[in-house]
Amino acid sequence: MTAPRIAACPRCGASTRLDPQNPWRPFCSERCKLIDLGDWMSGRFALPVTEEHESEGEPDGAQPPQ
Ligand SMILES: [Zn+2]
Repeated sequence: MTAPRIAACPRCGASTRLDPQNPWRPFCSERCKLIDLGDWMSGRFALPVTEEHESEGEPDGAQPPQ
């Protein structure tokens, strides 16, 4: 049983071999892999940036123990 594992390229849908001989698996080529990575990166950087203030919870005027 040496049937090659074939899957559709997540990027373009082309039949792609999922064996170690394919360095770009699960993509069909370097181009598809880079395009997919670029999309992921752009989506990540497109997320809205919100500033977080974590100074809450510290009451002002706390008396030191005597
Ligand atoms: Zn492809």
